[in-house]
Amino acid sequence: MDRIYCIKCRSHTENVDEREEQITSKGKPRLVMKALCAICSKKENKFITTEKSKTVSQEEYEQLLVKLSELQNTINKFDEKDLK
Ligand SMILES: [Zn+2]
Repeated sequence: MDRIYCIKCRSHTENVDEREEQITSKGKPRLVMKALCAICSKKENKFITTEKSKTVSQEEYEQLLVKLSELQNTINKFDEKDLK
């Protein structure tokens, strides 16, 4: 497991009582690692980037395709001779 940065100790300290928790952030499920700092016992938590959160939804994908075709149209309006 990655060490969590402790604000109080100002360093990446050893963690105790580590556990993962699923929370909802901005309407999206996120995985958070919760632990206690082994030195000061301050509660720490850190978002875990999962492969799942890197993927885009079907809707987002379609929006990207629209943007891409708009860009393609813009590019097509110009000829190479128009380049400075
Ligand atoms: Zn600490």
